[in-house]
Amino acid sequence: MKPTVGLIGLGLMGAPMGMNLLHAGFPLVVWNRTSSKAEELVGAGAKLASDPRGVAEQADVLITMLSDPPALEEVLFGAGQDSGALAAMRGGSTLIDSSTVSPDLARRVAAACAERGVDFLDAPVTGGTWGAKKGELVFMVGGNAEVLERVKPVLEAMGKKFPLLGPNGAGQTVKLGMNLLLALQVDAFAESLALVTGAGVSADKLMEVFQASMARSGVLDVKAPMMVKGEFPASFPLRLMHKDVRLALELARERDVKLPCGEAAYATYSAVLGSSKDDPDFSAVVRFWKH
Ligand code: NAP
Repeated sequence: MKPTVGLIGLGLMGAPMGMNLLHAGFPLVVWNRTSSKAEELVGAGAKLASDPRGVAEQADVLITMLSDPPALEEVLFGAGQDSGALAAMRGGSTLIDSSTVSPDLARRVAAACAERGVDFLDAPVTGGTWGAKKGELVFMVGGNAEVLERVKPVLEAMGKKFPLLGPNGAGQTVKLGMNLLLALQVDAFAESLALVTGAGVSADKLMEVFQASMARSGVLDVKAPMMVKGEFPASFPLRLMHKDVRLALELARERDVKLPCGEAAYATYSAVLGSSKDDPDFSAVVRFWKH
């Protein structure tokens, strides 16, 4: 018998992760604030719960895939005493949070889980929406090795690598470091593009040399052509990258680490977030130079 998996948060990432859990044969119970986003999964065999607690009480393994720290706190802790999903989880079950939140919140969730006899892993992901669809995510895990071993079959339905990075909070710490790096790479390409085109040479010429150079990277292979074309369909939305750079800066302040490039990039991402009327991908940071 496969364990029943609960999934809360069916956005760009959660929905394809849920589909892969169904394809792997896991009984799946879901909830999403906007219920219409659950329709495809329900059509494919998932059960829809009426609230987060309804998912939690049925789940052997509960996965949360929510946008940010306030969303995770609202879902897990609810508005008042014991009104969130966590209070409905059975002792011996496991919570896996794959949202990107602060390491501090991950440790607070771990402590609340421990009080209830629930195991907890912070396991944010990298790999983007295409990795979520293909079941090729990398989960950055903080927590206990035995718990990870126990839930590995569930993670294997959605991902390909599950490095254990340290105790609870370590997964989120590495995730914030990773996204700081991605944010800076894309911001750096935008700046280079602005310089070259501003000085009168076409973007195509920069691309020709860039694609044959050591400046290439996984993220820029995907994002640079979009930035040159000025097309930004949201794969990893700018609002979420902005949140992640902010969380990285907050962690840096807590730990007394200076992030001068991170501070500068945060200002650029903030300006574009403030002036965008749509919900673009984070590669739209290039719009900063169009104002
Ligand atoms: P998304 O499409 O914006 O989905 C966010 C989810 O959170 C939705 O289900 C949304 O519900 C829910 N939510 C937000 N506020 C809530 C609240 N107050 N109460 C209950 N539910 C709430 O985001 P995503 O791209 O799936 O990303 C999910 C997480 O994964 C984020 O932490 C993100 O940083 C991280 N991540 C994303 C990517 C990527 O490429 N997109 C890659 C790696 C990691 P509604 O549908 O009702 O709005």
